[in-house]
Amino acid sequence: MRLRRLLNRFVDLSLGRKLGMTNAAGLLLAGVLICVALGAASWATLRSDLMRTSQIVSSVLAQHVAPAIQFEDPISASELLSALSVHREFVEAVLYRADGELFARYRRTADPSLPGPSATPDDGARMVVSVPVEAQGQVIGELRVAVDMQYAYRRVLLAVAAILLVVLLVLGAVLLLQMRLVARVLAPVQSLLAGMRRAGDEADYSQRVPVAGRDEIGELGASFNAMMELVEERDRAMEHLAMHDSLTGLVNRHYLRMRARLPDADEGRRAALFYIDLDNFKAINDTIGHNFGDRVLAAVANRLMSLLGDGDMLARFGGDEFVLCTSLADGEDPVVRAEQLRRAIGAPLQLQKRELLLRASVGIALAPDHGSTVSELLQKADAAMHVAKDNGRDSVQCWNAAITQRANQRFALETELRQAMQAGQLVIAYQPIVALASGRVTGMEALLRWHHPERGPVSPAEFIPVAEESGLITELGAWVLERACIQVRNWHAQYGPLHLAVNVSGRQFRDPALVDTVRAACEACGFPTDLLHLEVTESTLMHDTEAAARVMRQLVGLGLKLSLDDFGTGYSSLAYLKRFPLHKLKIDRSFVKDLPHNADDGAIVKAIVNLARALDMLVLAEGIESEKQHLVLGALGCDFGQGYFYSKALEPKEFEQFMAQRHREPQRSEDDPPARY
Ligand code: C2E
Ligand code: CA
Ligand code: CA
Repeated sequence: MRLRRLLNRFVDLSLGRKLGMTNAAGLLLAGVLICVALGAASWATLRSDLMRTSQIVSSVLAQHVAPAIQFEDPISASELLSALSVHREFVEAVLYRADGELFARYRRTADPSLPGPSATPDDGARMVVSVPVEAQGQVIGELRVAVDMQYAYRRVLLAVAAILLVVLLVLGAVLLLQMRLVARVLAPVQSLLAGMRRAGDEADYSQRVPVAGRDEIGELGASFNAMMELVEERDRAMEHLAMHDSLTGLVNRHYLRMRARLPDADEGRRAALFYIDLDNFKAINDTIGHNFGDRVLAAVANRLMSLLGDGDMLARFGGDEFVLCTSLADGEDPVVRAEQLRRAIGAPLQLQKRELLLRASVGIALAPDHGSTVSELLQKADAAMHVAKDNGRDSVQCWNAAITQRANQRFALETELRQAMQAGQLVIAYQPIVALASGRVTGMEALLRWHHPERGPVSPAEFIPVAEESGLITELGAWVLERACIQVRNWHAQYGPLHLAVNVSGRQFRDPALVDTVRAACEACGFPTDLLHLEVTESTLMHDTEAAARVMRQLVGLGLKLSLDDFGTGYSSLAYLKRFPLHKLKIDRSFVKDLPHNADDGAIVKAIVNLARALDMLVLAEGIESEKQHLVLGALGCDFGQGYFYSKALEPKEFEQFMAQRHREPQRSEDDPPARY
């Protein structure tokens, strides 16, 4: 376990340390082995040298002491033996006669603890050499010489120490050399590693590492550089993709927000931001197709680009929105520039054998007058553009404080409207609908009313668009449907099968839950679905004609009827009238108000009636305010009428009074229109 842990720690060390440690360990081992080998060799040599010398010295001494034995002269024998004192390693010499008797002796020290040469002949600490003493070919004695090995050991040790010193010096030098080599080899690896870390931590792909050679590390460096090149290129491509619009090639909103430069307040220059939005572009997409719409957008981008000056930035901001950021010359009028843009877009456009007349609304915001940041200007130019749209489109509007004030009021209204729903300030009024031929009330339209505690009655024309924008309309619409169904269902018992018309706004119509909401409202109070008429406007249907047709079929499948509200004010494309299962056209009051004097309006009403007849639809005229209008519209063939001439929209109590009064009046019945409501 410990070994494994050590091994793991070793594995985790840096490459330089690992190499350094293995090299040092290897060299140390080599050094130790060299020392041991050299020590052993020098020991063996020294020992054999000592042996040989001792042998020779002993042999020579044996020749010299032979006469002393012959002449029984132990004293001269002892003197001869003491000649050994010249050599420090000879510690003792003992001379025996042939009969084994001690004849003479020499001892270097008088240490009695030293064993005699006879004791242990060769015990490691000393070595004993024994030679026969001969005279005339006869052995007359034996000489034993003890050699002290300590001395030899010391010399070997000294030699080993010297070797060790040399080996260590050499090893140190080699290690140093190796470390420098390793450092040199590792330097490119380290710079590669630093490069990778920088790429990972700082996403800096612009760096390159030096490629030193053609070895594996050099190859690694080259590959790293190639990889960085690729990443950088891909980054550039991705940034281009993220910052540009692929359809027009213009920069997009992110780019503009990030890069558009406005002059500083003290620079004394002015800049203008133009928010350009095509009018009714949706209709082109919906009627001719998205591919064609794309080509129109590309053509518009080209026209705008041809008007760009130095330092101008033109961005496609979204579907049919473009933003131009430009600096203004001294005394240059931004409105003139905006008109130029609008006219360029409005010039007749030939595309795929069609001639189009495009229109655009342009909002302007100026720096430093209206703001000092791009987002501030964008917000204000956008608000101004919306005002241009509200003013009937195809126009230019420069931002002013009232615009933001209006936007703020709208926001406040939204908040209030939410509270109004909860506080029960919203009520439903019912405007009677009359069969023109008989003058009988056949149904009513439910219209929302807001009794504001401070402002009094607030028109739905003011708050319905706000509810639309905020999404509150879904909830509000469901509430109207449910309450109106309950109310009118109760009236059925009293007044017979009156039909109920309820307005459905565009956003409600696109709500996938609409069909279920309608079904639930009818089922909850047992309202006969064939008496429920939903009113939609042309703009609602134009949004996505396929989806609109599908939803309409589902609604008709429930048994209810669909009316086209404000007919004549929108696109009035006759093509879709045929495609949608419509039951009734409601002629907008703008065609009614100048009747009977305006002959053109009369002709339009007649044409609408004929169209409706051909398509098997009924016609209702809105905004009838006088008897003359009532009579002329009846004569023109309209089936139903609605307007102040009969009654304004009435809250339930008033409606009941109105009905009570009408029931008292004589009603025509002989030429009632066929019961088709
Ligand atoms: P609309 O659907 O065209 O409703 C008819 C509008 O014309 C009503 O205005 C009505 O009061 C008004 N009107 C009726 N007869 C005459 C007349 O003889 N002369 C004149 N000058 N005006 C007449 P109101 O109630 O202010 O509603 C305005 C619009 O608000 C409605 O137009 C409708 O689009 C929307 N709206 C009202 N209630 C609802 C609702 O519950 N849901 C939705 N989505 N929209 C609603
Ligand atoms: Ca309506
Ligand atoms: Ca209407």
